[in-house]
Amino acid sequence: MMARREFLKTAAAAGMVAMASPAYAQGKVKPGPQDVLLVVDVQNCFVPGGNLPVKEGDQIVPLINRLAKAFEHVVLTQDWHTPGHISFASSHAGKKPFETVTLPYGTQVLWPDHCVQGSEDAALLKGLALPKAQLIIRKGYHQSTDSYSAFTEADGKTTTGLAAYLKAHGVDSVYVCGLATDFCVAWTALDARKAGFKAAVIEDASRGIDLNGSLKAAWDKMAKAGVKRIQSGDIAA
Ligand SMILES: [Zn+2]
Repeated sequence: MMARREFLKTAAAAGMVAMASPAYAQGKVKPGPQDVLLVVDVQNCFVPGGNLPVKEGDQIVPLINRLAKAFEHVVLTQDWHTPGHISFASSHAGKKPFETVTLPYGTQVLWPDHCVQGSEDAALLKGLALPKAQLIIRKGYHQSTDSYSAFTEADGKTTTGLAAYLKAHGVDSVYVCGLATDFCVAWTALDARKAGFKAAVIEDASRGIDLNGSLKAAWDKMAKAGVKRIQSGDIAA
């Protein structure tokens, strides 16, 4: 009889062993009342045709619509800036989009003007079908502070109230998807961990910008912080 170890080695060589992470190897996650799907910034702005398009940003919509059916709790975020917001390159003389400036709270990447409050650019994508969504967190509406994260603004201390809201609803696990993986999705997942939640990013239901290696850096940082990297197929929907 082949020893178990030998079998595993042979099976691995033959590509028979599923490459799922240990926590998910037992089967698919079935979301319960303690889980929330957090859909980050799926707005006209961040898909092709918008002011700050993320490549293939629109392709995640069918996945998100399918995922959302499996969750009791669905929360959306919307990037929601004042005109002339501090994160816009146009607000800094001589600066171009994707350059950086130093602000009192640290380094700020400068973006094209985007997601101005009430504009069509800031509207949620029409194809999103999330009738169960119970809360929309708008963020980045303070003139002099950006907010990639759904939990805490870029100053690292001003809260959006989301952590308290989720805790009040008995949520302890956050599943993040949306745009962009290496900015608002990653910062949201990292802050979820800081606030004491379990956190996972659904990779194929997100897309990244990848500015100067930012996508790999974000995944490394998330791995270190205990954010799980999963696929939409890992969730029973
Ligand atoms: Zn923004």
